[in-house]
Amino acid sequence: RRKIAILTSGGDAPGMNAAVRGVVRAAITRGCDAYAVHEGYQGLVDGGDMIKKMGWDDVQGYLSTGGTVIGTARCKAFRERPGRLLAARNLVREGIDALVVCGGDGSLTGADLFRSEWPSLLEELVKTNELTSEEAEKYAHLNIVGLVGSIDNDMSSTDITIGAVTCLHRICESIDSISSTASSHSRAFVVEVMGRHCGWLALMAGIATGADFIFIPERPPSGENWRDNMCAEIKAHRDLGKRKTIVIVCEGAIDSNLNPITSKDMMDLLTDRLHLDTRMTILGHVQRGGKPCAFDRNLATMQGVEAVEAVLASKPGIPSPMIGMNENKITRTDLMKAVALTGEVAKAIGRKDFIGAMELRDPAFNQ
Ligand code: ADP
Repeated sequence: RRKIAILTSGGDAPGMNAAVRGVVRAAITRGCDAYAVHEGYQGLVDGGDMIKKMGWDDVQGYLSTGGTVIGTARCKAFRERPGRLLAARNLVREGIDALVVCGGDGSLTGADLFRSEWPSLLEELVKTNELTSEEAEKYAHLNIVGLVGSIDNDMSSTDITIGAVTCLHRICESIDSISSTASSHSRAFVVEVMGRHCGWLALMAGIATGADFIFIPERPPSGENWRDNMCAEIKAHRDLGKRKTIVIVCEGAIDSNLNPITSKDMMDLLTDRLHLDTRMTILGHVQRGGKPCAFDRNLATMQGVEAVEAVLASKPGIPSPMIGMNENKITRTDLMKAVALTGEVAKAIGRKDFIGAMELRDPAFNQ
């Protein structure tokens, strides 16, 4: 019997539970044993009770629950080889050789590194008598499958990531609420949304709510005098009788010199130059929590099932797959290529030497 484990890692995203449910139930349906590793990679490193066998009923109610029930963590130990050595030992002891990781690009990078190191980790465990050579031979190949759980929709090679659409809905509901109070008082609001290196949420929310201005990292405002132009436009609209102004700032927004554009700067600009009664709302973690929308439940379910199929179809030497969605179809792409491409895109928008607005305020804020 194949033993397939799933873990959720990095920032939580609505729909992660549906992914766990999809993997568990698809694994059972296909005659495999299913395991959940609690607290992300920390659970792999700690082993024991953190790796739990899952039955069909254990994932009851998972479709509609926000966050991740099996827990997630940021695990320092897994970044170092000794931590990954413990993780390998714990997996082999449970007889698990297939691991589905649902997380962002960091988690998926770690997963692929783990797979590439696997033979040498087993070799070391045999040398230190932690494993027998029979065990090492039996579990010679680790199958890794990536599922992208990320509210930011910031992964290349997939059109959409698990949790992004729910988060977008939550932002839109919040901006709708802000819009009504803004109109009532004839105020301006600067709304800061998540997206450390990716403006998808800000851009989509801006279109969906008819925002006046949107700032994202991928497309800094052009021209040295963009502030003047922006103020002139807002003033023209106000002169025509418009009673509200909504400016959406992605937390990672930058200008063309790679300097952060912060929501505070925008609030000060509208207050000082236009004398508008301006308020700032940082939506924060309400964007991330709560029930997943139908799209994310279904996306995660279909991808969870596909992850199990990918495990069953895997052969040594074939690159680890990442399950994505492209043109409305569930797809398997090369995990490492997707992660590398994501890095390339980030570099192209100046991420390398960029200190984001978020980092300037509080490095722990968004963890
Ligand atoms: P996300 O998956 O949301 O991008 P992080 O980048 O914080 O979140 O990664 C989550 C966890 O994945 C980290 O705490 C660490 O345990 C593991 N991880 C991330 N990058 C690596 C890496 N390069 N090598 C090994 N493990 C990593």
